[in-house]
Order: sequence, then structure tokens, then C-alpha cells
Amino acid sequence: MTDIIRAGTPGTPGTPGTESLVCRLVDAELLVPTGVLGLYGRSGTYQDVADGIGAMVRRWGASLGARRLHLPPVLGRATFAHTNYLESFPDLMGSVHVFSGGNPEHKELLRRVESGGDWPALLEPADVVLASAACHGVYPLCTGVLPIEGRTFDVQSYCFRHEPSPQAARMQSFVMHEIAHVGTADGAWNHREEGLAHGLRMLSGLGLDMSAVPASDPFFGRVGAVLAAGQLDEELKMEGVTAIPGTQGMTAIMSANSHRDHFGVPFGIETAGGAVAHSACVAFGVDRIVVALLAVHGLDPASWPSGVRDQLGLAGSLA
Ligand code: AMP
Ligand code: ZN
Repeated sequence: MTDIIRAGTPGTPGTPGTESLVCRLVDAELLVPTGVLGLYGRSGTYQDVADGIGAMVRRWGASLGARRLHLPPVLGRATFAHTNYLESFPDLMGSVHVFSGGNPEHKELLRRVESGGDWPALLEPADVVLASAACHGVYPLCTGVLPIEGRTFDVQSYCFRHEPSPQAARMQSFVMHEIAHVGTADGAWNHREEGLAHGLRMLSGLGLDMSAVPASDPFFGRVGAVLAAGQLDEELKMEGVTAIPGTQGMTAIMSANSHRDHFGVPFGIETAGGAVAHSACVAFGVDRIVVALLAVHGLDPASWPSGVRDQLGLAGSLA
């Protein structure tokens, strides 16, 4: 099963020091390969670290009075259409298809499965798509007039992005944990700023060498290049990046995003003062953080510095 991971992976498998990070994580049984690039199961040890990160984000959310939500990995198609994700990232999204035929269609379906034919062509779009960002599910909950202090959510879900890659930190399915705020323009901007600072402190405290950089989302096509330039120009997106040993360049393990009224308009959200609501989210890429910690501190969390283990609540669980 590791063959599909090893195929196309930079580095020379089997040669100490040159093997790619993803191979080392698979060999150490921290990531469980599935035969699909960027799609892994998690070991118990990996999950314990992910839980520790989740608890740290939750503590911050609780201090802001955030409402905790664990959302499904799928989103209503209508809600998704309102997010305008298709406009900007059609190449990253994933859709769910279902079988709704009768007996003759079922027979044909099985025939095609057996003969290696095109059986997915017999399926129809369901009324759900795969979630692209955890915070997309909170905006429909805010339609109407907000309380004066706005609304803050601690929200997490598995997210899907169609970017198959042999790089350990680029997955197709990964957990995103966000603290999102919907409120006034000032309130949302402050959340972005304070959230960025908090996230950087939190991740630095885990021994990761963090820096903040203005960034742009990977907008699609020619219009996308214009959107990306504008986003960079106005510093609407900031990323918390770190060097992950065994991978090239810097990797964004968190982002702090100002959406302005991008969600307030389509979801009909108003502030108590009658203005269109603004929103901002601070997103932690839980899998990327776990991978970064494993690459920096070593593949055995039991041997990590005690300060790091304490913060992640690993003191008892792995000893
Ligand atoms: P974004 O909405 O693109 O800023 O994503 C929020 C966070 O999710 C990023 O900072 C990453 O940590 C994480 N993330 C985004 N894409 C991926 C991916 N393909 N694999 C793993 N983590 C990802
Ligand atoms: Zn978000």
C-alpha cells in the first residue's frame, strides 16, 4: 500500500536521511496509507496529538465565549453555492453522488463495476458536497440580525480539497479547526488581528518556529490572478508559516482571514446597527500542525520535550 505514496515521492526510499517525510510517517505507522495520494488514516498516537491541538484551540475559543460546533464533512449544496467557492476554487471542490435508479439501473451498475466500466456515470448529484472549509457551515446559522457583540464560533470538521500530492503536509482530506467571528467590520478585523497573534503564540509555544506572512488563496483562472493580487494588496489573508524538516520551503499551518462582507451579503447577515455583517476566521490546519510537530520533535511523541507534551495534554496518554 505504501507504493502509491512512494511512487512520485521526492527522495530515495530506503536511503536514511533522503526518504521523504510522508514515507517516514507511514513507516512509523503514524499515517495509514489508503492507496490514494493525500488520503490517510490516523494512528492512535497521531490522533492523541491532534486531540491535544484541538484542546488548545478550544481553550482559546472558550475564552472568547465561542459556541462549539462539530460539523459534518459535507455541506448542503445550497449553502455551498452561497459561499461562492465555485467562483474562486472550482478545481478544489468535491461533490457527492448517489445512486437513485431502479432494478434495471442497479443491474447495469453491477455490470459496469464487474467489467471495469464507467459506473460513476450512473450516479446523480446528491444534495450535499464535501466541506471545503470548516467555517462555511456557520454563516447560514447567522442569517438575520446579530446580537450587539456579534457571534463567535469554535468550529471544526474534516475538509476536502482536490489537491492530491505526495507531500506529507498536503492532503485531500484533513481536519480544520477554526475560531470564526461574525459581527461588525471592526469586530471582525480585530478578531483576525488578535487571532493571528494568538495562533502564532500558541504554535511557537509548541516549539515551532513561526512567522506571519501576507498570503493569497489559490484563486482559479485569469480572474483569479486579479483576486489574488487584491487579497495580497489589502493583506486580507495572513498565514502562520513554519519550515517543516523534510519538506521544501515554508508551510502554512494556520491562516487568519478577513472576509469583509463576502459571507454577510449572500447569507443575509446584519449587525445590530443595521449594517451588512463582516466576518473573519482563524483556521488551524490540525494535520499540518501534527505533521510539523512530528518532523520537528521526532516521530515518537513520548520523547518530545515535556513542556510540549504538557501543553498537548500528552503527559498521561502516551507515557
Ligand atoms: P486556508 O483556508 O487555505 O487558509 O486553510 C486553512 C488551513 O488549513 C491552512 O493554513 C492549512 O494549515 C490547512 N490546509 C489547507 N489546505 C490543506 C491541505 N491540502 N492539506 C492539509 N492542510 C491543509
Ligand atoms: Zn474559515
